[in-house]
Amino acid sequence: MSKILPADPKASYLAAQAEIDAAIQRVLRSGHYILGPELEAFEREFSAWLGSAGTVGVANGTDAIELALHAAGIGPGDKVITVANTVTATVSAIVATGAKPMFADIEPGTMLLDVAALETMLAKLRDPKIKAVVPVHLYGQAVDMPHLMEVAARHNLFVMEDCAQAHGSLVGGRMAGTWGQLASFSFYPTKNLGALGDAGAVTGRDVALLEKVKLLRQYGWRKRYVSDHHGRNSRLDELQAAILRVHLTRLEAGNRRRDAIARQYLAALADAPLKLPVVAGGRTHTWHQFVVRSARRDELQAHLAKQDIVCGVLYPMPIHRQPAYHDATLALPQTEQACGEVLSLPLHPGLGDDDVARVVKEVKAFQA
Ligand SMILES: *Cc1c(COP(=O)(O)O)cnc(C)c1O
Repeated sequence: MSKILPADPKASYLAAQAEIDAAIQRVLRSGHYILGPELEAFEREFSAWLGSAGTVGVANGTDAIELALHAAGIGPGDKVITVANTVTATVSAIVATGAKPMFADIEPGTMLLDVAALETMLAKLRDPKIKAVVPVHLYGQAVDMPHLMEVAARHNLFVMEDCAQAHGSLVGGRMAGTWGQLASFSFYPTKNLGALGDAGAVTGRDVALLEKVKLLRQYGWRKRYVSDHHGRNSRLDELQAAILRVHLTRLEAGNRRRDAIARQYLAALADAPLKLPVVAGGRTHTWHQFVVRSARRDELQAHLAKQDIVCGVLYPMPIHRQPAYHDATLALPQTEQACGEVLSLPLHPGLGDDDVARVVKEVKAFQA
């Protein structure tokens, strides 16, 4: 019996091996390894696919958040609101700008930023230092962006969408990553669009800010050796860009396969004593994660592991309970409860129907 993994970037490589190997050879022979034609082509192709005004490749998804906020002028003394059931990266990027992260609670169903709770928080605090909000489109489903953009406009907040788990997710027919002024993507190997190493991008609607991110990713240079701004080194290299161009052509097919698997899980587990993922009206789900909830999460995870079915937990500890960001005064009941219950069943385009059936059978065996 083979191991069923939560994600399988090697399977994605093997499925496109001839094309990826050719792309790698093309770069190796070009003699151009940093900020060259592959990155320019990827940035163009990604913007065209997403429908954004432009894309700036950077070294990873964490840098993308940091550089986007930095370009927007967010820095020391400012406050930025996000959620606490995200990967640490979202928050470490906010902290890296010098701003202070703040947390809003989540909706119990989708487990995404609760926009109504955010608005209540803003009304109560009336804090002019709150300058931006970072909605995290977690698991493959986007936050209620029409509502969020309305609230943000009322409170004069900059919106930077964290799209690391939402490549191709729609809200009201419009792509996640095209709502806020800027958006960040990660192309970590296990994401729906993954490199074979680290990579990320800033994209969005605001061309002037995207131009600034372009300077910031290379020492703030407009002209070589002359810094207009305080920048850093955060470049997406030619090899990863060439690999991403191949994977981008397969992204929609991969998302369709994810959707087919999710439908199998939803149908087969409809009667299981688990909370199944909730997809809100007007939104599509790209199933970066298929997250069920159970009060007996740890036992279920252990049971599946014994059957060689490896499940992830995204995320076991809310940010405000982690030692580096601990805030004893903050209570986020929905977030805290979710972190104790969430379990990601294996879901990636490399899974066969037989694998899905095996997972279903073992989930049901645990509950029986
Ligand atoms: C993966 C991820 C990131 C960070 O991306 P890296 O490329 O690993 O830096 C940020 N936010 C979310 C929600 C993610 O899933």
